Amino acid sequence: MGFRAITAQLVLRTPLHVGTGRATETVDDLLRRDAQGRILIPGTSLAGPLRAIATRLAPRLGSRSCQALQGGDFGSQICGCLTCRLFGDVTPQEDEKKGVASQVIIYDAPLDKNPEIAIRDGVGIDRVTGAAARKERLKFDLEVVPAGTIFSLRMEFDPNLTDERALQLLAVSLAEWEAGRGAVGGRVGRGLGAFTLQNIQYRDQKLDTIEAVVDFLKIGPGWTKQTGAGDWLATQSAATRKQAQLLSPVGDHSVACSWALTEFTLAAEGSFLINDPVRAGQGGFDHAPLLTAYERKGEPVLPGSSLRGVLRSQAERIARTLATHDAWGDNKRSSEERKREFSTSCPACNPLTTHTSTTHTSDAVASCNSFIKTLAPEKRRELEDRGAEDKLCLACRLFGSTWNGSRLRVEDAPLLPNTGKQKVMDFLAIDRFTGGGRDGAKFDAVALWQPHFRVRLFLENPEGWELGWLVLTLRDLHEGLTTVGFGAAKGFGRMTIQSPSITFGILHETDFPLPPAPEDESEDRQKLERAIVAREKLLTHRGTPSGLYQTIGYADSHKADWLDLADGWVQAFHRERRARPRAQEFTLQKDSYFTKIADQWLPDLYPVEVSA
Ligand SMILES: [Zn+2]
Ligand SMILES: [Zn+2]
Repeated sequence: MGFRAITAQLVLRTPLHVGTGRATETVDDLLRRDAQGRILIPGTSLAGPLRAIATRLAPRLGSRSCQALQGGDFGSQICGCLTCRLFGDVTPQEDEKKGVASQVIIYDAPLDKNPEIAIRDGVGIDRVTGAAARKERLKFDLEVVPAGTIFSLRMEFDPNLTDERALQLLAVSLAEWEAGRGAVGGRVGRGLGAFTLQNIQYRDQKLDTIEAVVDFLKIGPGWTKQTGAGDWLATQSAATRKQAQLLSPVGDHSVACSWALTEFTLAAEGSFLINDPVRAGQGGFDHAPLLTAYERKGEPVLPGSSLRGVLRSQAERIARTLATHDAWGDNKRSSEERKREFSTSCPACNPLTTHTSTTHTSDAVASCNSFIKTLAPEKRRELEDRGAEDKLCLACRLFGSTWNGSRLRVEDAPLLPNTGKQKVMDFLAIDRFTGGGRDGAKFDAVALWQPHFRVRLFLENPEGWELGWLVLTLRDLHEGLTTVGFGAAKGFGRMTIQSPSITFGILHETDFPLPPAPEDESEDRQKLERAIVAREKLLTHRGTPSGLYQTIGYADSHKADWLDLADGWVQAFHRERRARPRAQEFTLQKDSYFTKIADQWLPDLYPVEVSA
């Protein structure tokens, strides 16, 4: 008989929202609280993400894949995979003896101290018009716990849990949290709920003597005393890592293979404006920067959702421009042919378009979601059950849609110290008739002067084409082809990327994203071959392991190899966007460029390339 527990501190890196699902007059969704009104993270909200990590890692430890991943109805069949043995069976069993209850209990995590609550205002910006897309219901208010807040985590094991492999799985799953790759609560893809687990203590208290039991009853359980083992996680992870290296990947996104993490400083060249309507209202300004409270002092932050929107719209622009060039072809093609080519191959939709009937969409580059709405009910149900991933455009697959989550996480980027002085700016709307300042049209704002934000982008199981597309997108951002925040027309929001770091985590050599082998003549054979050689070379320079993963990090000394590899990923992106024609029922019905205006083809007036 004994008592075993793990205690740790959960430190928020970005604001957290664990909602009640109930709205009030002032905010849409409130934080979860206990009976006394104290904020907490419910144990179930922690157990879910931890189980998800374990489910993805277990196949790499030799367990068979959990039946929960295969979808469908398994009736009374018991899974019995390593994850189910640890966290209990998913489906409640009629025969109680057969099913396994969870061997690990995760308690509600209370707050260390009462934080300042922030209200997050998320406004969806229509990328075509730049206006807030209110009619799209994209505005939401959230009550969030600010970054820097600490919660106390505690979990206990069943005394009968002796399965060494189940304990190893628990350890490597917790190691993901320790390495800062965890997220909890709502809207994690938009940058909320990222955290790091610290001060992890493993406590094992034997209750095999009367004295020990009396002691336990008198002083209370072991977590109140500082007697835990701080190295348990590292020891278990190291032992488990040796086993994982021998397994080859299964090659599907439900199984953990790899991750890519890049961190860089996004430096504004001049003024920078991100709006926080709440704070602007309080201060009487029309525009004020979004703040988050760190230790009760407000610091501006670049919201992950804003940066994500910027990256997505630039990525869409790149993909559509390239598709337009491809559709143009040689000068023998007719406008009709070009339109057909673009309509069947456009790799990136505009996710904000919604106009649809039961039979057709009526927007240019209509969203994948609006196409799905035109499908027959039984087809839609099929997509609901089995996922719509293979129907979606490349942008929806990378950045997510209402039909799939995103493997890309863009966190809130904190402001670096001593950058971004706040200054009030006046903008006068000039009356175009009289030339004088129009009454009531004066507009003021608090802008940040040359702020530097530290950005963190994390991509789970990256594919070569996704990395290539992100490389092109970030390069455009660095070169000023796209801006962040408001006021692009006034020259605001031009950014450069500084001090970047890139780290890959892999479980096996074959998990390191591979550029495709050259196939046909249209591809740049030399680039692809160089990339494959560079990848082999980089694999020989491993960094310090992280949890179950081996790491490979960017270093200036191998810059040439990294550039070659990135070139290969860009080629992979070109292949992917060409290789995937749109599903027939997703053929674009309208486009804003390949179209006729007053019986005249627009491309005839504005050709893609003017040939000699
Ligand atoms: Zn299972
Ligand atoms: Zn799409």
